[in-house]
Amino acid sequence: MGRKFFVGGNWKCNGTTDQLKKIITTLNEGDVPSQDIVEVVLSPPYVFLGMVKDLLRPDFHVAAQNCWVKKGGAFTGEISAEMLANVDIPWVILGHSERRAILKESNEFVGDKVAYALSQGLKVIACIGETLEQRESGTTMEVVAAQTKAIAERVTNWDNVVLAYEPVWAIGTGKVATPAQAQEVHCELREWLEANVNSEVAASTRIIYGGSVTASNCQELGGQKDVDGFLVGGASLKPEFIDIIKASL
Ligand code: PGA
Repeated sequence: MGRKFFVGGNWKCNGTTDQLKKIITTLNEGDVPSQDIVEVVLSPPYVFLGMVKDLLRPDFHVAAQNCWVKKGGAFTGEISAEMLANVDIPWVILGHSERRAILKESNEFVGDKVAYALSQGLKVIACIGETLEQRESGTTMEVVAAQTKAIAERVTNWDNVVLAYEPVWAIGTGKVATPAQAQEVHCELREWLEANVNSEVAASTRIIYGGSVTASNCQELGGQKDVDGFLVGGASLKPEFIDIIKASL
């Protein structure tokens, strides 16, 4: 079963109206493979979602960077999944390591968020990944399996889930995982899905890599058998994002 290449751009908490308009112009003028070959999703901060959605070329889509864990109500400062669906935001990033680490989002909380967002018709980029300490102590697979398990226990339909493997030590550090390191974890994650969910989900779920992806390392990373695309932070704010999208070819 073919897994369409997926390239996400996570703009995090960056940008002004003018800066983002400039990036959008560059993206809109970029010569990239068609939607049949690559799915491109940009994730601006909440306040810019509407503007980006309106200005962005129609073959690229948008994602929120988070949403509330259940139905909206008295949760000051939160945005619910049903609100995102209501304003036609198709995707949401959940469980990013910055939120897991700084805002103390647990595996279970992230799993609940993924399940609730899916129930509201959103598509989810679910992030997992180990810290440097965990990698060095040899627990990488244990950590990412536990993060994935918390999702798998709550999700029955994986059609709208993209799993983003993002080693924490590679995020924003310039220290990218080697293609072999990425492939090893992606392959083991697929085996985990096969053993713990089913072979259909293991074969069809896209597992993308994130962590210091750039125009110069994307070809080799993207060429790995089980790497189905990228979640890009820093480089998604630069013109080189176009080259990263082209790694789908
Ligand atoms: P980076 O971020 O590409 O800047 O390392 C990736 C991410 O956090 O999704």
